[in-house]
Amino acid sequence: MTDQARLLKTAVPGPRSVALHEARAQQVARGFGVTLPVFVDHADGALLVDVDGNQLIDMGSGIAVTSVGAAAPAVVERIAEQATKFTHTCFMVTEYEGFTEVAAALNRLTPGDHEKRTALFSTGAEAVENAVKIARAATGRPAIVVLDHAYHGRTLMTMTMTAKNVPYKEGFGPYAPEVYRAPMAYPFRYDGDEKACAADALARLKDIVLTQIGAHNVAAIVAEPIQGEGGFIVPAEGFLPGVVEFAREHDILFVADEIQTGFARTGAMFACEHEGIVPDLITTAKALAGGMPLSAVTGRAEIMDAVAPGGLGGTYAGNPVACAAALGAIETIESEGLVARAAQIEQRVMPRLEEMRAASGGRIGDVRGRGAMLAIELVEPGTKDPAPRFAQALAAHCHAEGVVVLVCGTYGNVIRLLPPLVIGDALLDDALDVLATGVRGLA
Ligand SMILES: *Cc1c(COP(=O)(O)O)cnc(C)c1O
Repeated sequence: MTDQARLLKTAVPGPRSVALHEARAQQVARGFGVTLPVFVDHADGALLVDVDGNQLIDMGSGIAVTSVGAAAPAVVERIAEQATKFTHTCFMVTEYEGFTEVAAALNRLTPGDHEKRTALFSTGAEAVENAVKIARAATGRPAIVVLDHAYHGRTLMTMTMTAKNVPYKEGFGPYAPEVYRAPMAYPFRYDGDEKACAADALARLKDIVLTQIGAHNVAAIVAEPIQGEGGFIVPAEGFLPGVVEFAREHDILFVADEIQTGFARTGAMFACEHEGIVPDLITTAKALAGGMPLSAVTGRAEIMDAVAPGGLGGTYAGNPVACAAALGAIETIESEGLVARAAQIEQRVMPRLEEMRAASGGRIGDVRGRGAMLAIELVEPGTKDPAPRFAQALAAHCHAEGVVVLVCGTYGNVIRLLPPLVIGDALLDDALDVLATGVRGLA
């Protein structure tokens, strides 16, 4: 086990990482960006150990994936055991129990006590694609409604559903038809109180559905209960319940994309629970399998079963090694009390972020999030104008000091914190100290 402390032996990135990055550029397509060009040798809990021997604090979890840590014992053991038995059969050719067990776990854990069914896939985008297919098959309607600032993936349909052009869509059109966009209730960027923000966005969404699309043409409204890539935007209270109520009135399905928010991340097993929302379909991936590629659509049995046998699947869908990893990850989340831990992380981090805001000379415009999904939005002092240059400078400072943070947001001006939920307080405090020093340095 690696000593759980930040340790810098060289500059970050160090000489070996620099050399490996140069070699990479000769082999790997340029389209893959990188947050921090450091090559990882091994990882443990919330520490990444690079090829130069630096120990970096992971405040990104590989984008909300390694919530149980980078090599959680229950995940590693189950992967090893399954891999020695068999690595693949294709569930559509011959079956294995792990698939059913993961489906049962998802049916049990996701919001609502109605009868459910689950379909497993490999990536988050694939889960969203399939939620759309299922919603269309179940309703016989074509249209899909998504929100401003949404992120749903990089495949043709999900890139269309994603809001932000650069880098996700630029040059990749034409996009898929029958995708419509409605406003998001984004409290910080709304001129008025939170209640008005929710009411206003809801009224505009209804207007778009009723007058521009026709409610009877809409299969589903797809939304992230807290937006991830779009900037960790917590919708104004009441907005999502209003959307769900409106959807029900018109037999439109409500699909919660919990790919980033799911599995304890926000201090609830699923973020929908914070507002008592029960989605018709829910998409999950990221933290589901402790780092192995696995995703799912879970939903009402009658909706899920609207697709005839053969209509869903994929060669690798619900791979047995990934299913074994998921069972280990879910076991860890439950046995280690990681839902409660995420809530504790919020209690510990939020006051620190508020202190940083107070000391930022107006550069931190907003502090927000839930559980261990927290962010600061950077602005030009005295305004709400996005300041991506501050976010970049702050991220660069953290990286140089050995703290891996990620930038997000439609305007590229949000620093997000997504630590593994197993992170210890000492490591968390150290990472926050580094961030706080960076904030003071911006002034
Ligand atoms: C990451 C993400 C996706 C896409 O998942 P991939 O596994 O990258 O395809 C979809 N929706 C949300 C909310 C995400 O955060």
